[in-house]
Amino acid sequence: MKKLSWIVLMLILAISLVACGNDGDKDAGGDKKTVGLAMPTKSSERWVKDGDNMKEKFEELGYKVDMQYAEDVVENQVAQIENMITKKVDILVIASIDGEALTEVLNKAENQGIPVISYDRLIMNSDHVSYYATFDNFEVGVLQGRYIEEQLGLENEAGPFNIELFAGSPDDNNAYFFWDGAMSILQPYIDEGKLVVRSGQTDFKQGATLRWDGSLAQERMDNLLSAHYSGEKIDVIYSPFDGISRGVISSLKAVGYGSGNNPMPIVTGQDAELASIKSIIAGEQTQTIFKDTRALAEKAVDMADSVLKGEEPEINDTETYDNGKKVVPSYLLVPISVDESNYQKVLVESGYFSDADLK
Ligand code: BGC
Repeated sequence: MKKLSWIVLMLILAISLVACGNDGDKDAGGDKKTVGLAMPTKSSERWVKDGDNMKEKFEELGYKVDMQYAEDVVENQVAQIENMITKKVDILVIASIDGEALTEVLNKAENQGIPVISYDRLIMNSDHVSYYATFDNFEVGVLQGRYIEEQLGLENEAGPFNIELFAGSPDDNNAYFFWDGAMSILQPYIDEGKLVVRSGQTDFKQGATLRWDGSLAQERMDNLLSAHYSGEKIDVIYSPFDGISRGVISSLKAVGYGSGNNPMPIVTGQDAELASIKSIIAGEQTQTIFKDTRALAEKAVDMADSVLKGEEPEINDTETYDNGKKVVPSYLLVPISVDESNYQKVLVESGYFSDADLK
């Protein structure tokens, strides 16, 4: 009997030793595996949070992390990824700047057998993208459009209301999803004449903002106001991103909106950036979309960890994200609309920001 339990004990020990040897975070030599994290820019707060969250979670799982930001310069990002490939990272997680610019460098990753996970933004024109972790980007636009619809009471009010439309960066696949989602709600009201775009700039291309640059948006807003709104009031600005919203708001303030009898128009946004939440509290920006970067980071880290362990990551969408070469299996998280009425509950109670942050 004693001998039998001894044998059972030894067996358990042997099995657990083998299991340890299979850890995804170690390479064949028992060294830690390295994750190459290529991030777009530190100029927007969300990407800093995304990077920090992923780094921390990968390290908790026992990986080494090589994280690089490219400050929105496409060539820098390509060079950083090339460098990671040369250093033989075990996997690449990439939040691209220009989703169309990575085909060649990903060919190199493929030749070295380095898998690639597309983070938040879809990498286009490459069949070497294993998985995609993002939010439901069409839904982001729907939430923004629906917010405008509800705030103006468009179903029942006759209007007309004046609106101007901003779009994101044309080299970012997400920008089209946000626009299409928003227009799925707004276009019928534009067609009906309840929403009027006085500038006539109703195409994505006309509203596009290269690299999501708030100062370009500010410039465009200055031009729109002086060309189409002298003596006319603007009621709404559809903006897809907080940085663009803040640029637009500076322009509006410069001509007197938000003071005296001249209320701020409705201004949407995205990312729940601290400066924009403060702006919402101050009654300037109206709304934003919260995409919990902690949850996205966790999803991407789980995906990478599964891939490195030779397991199938969890996905929930196999239809939406065609990058021109393949439909990339994706996991889509759920975005949340935030304004002055729910920021406390959604952002503070969840610990995303503290009360002190918002002071
Ligand atoms: C992201 C948004 C962000 C935008 C600008 C998009 O790809 O999905 O969350 O607002 O880039 O950084």
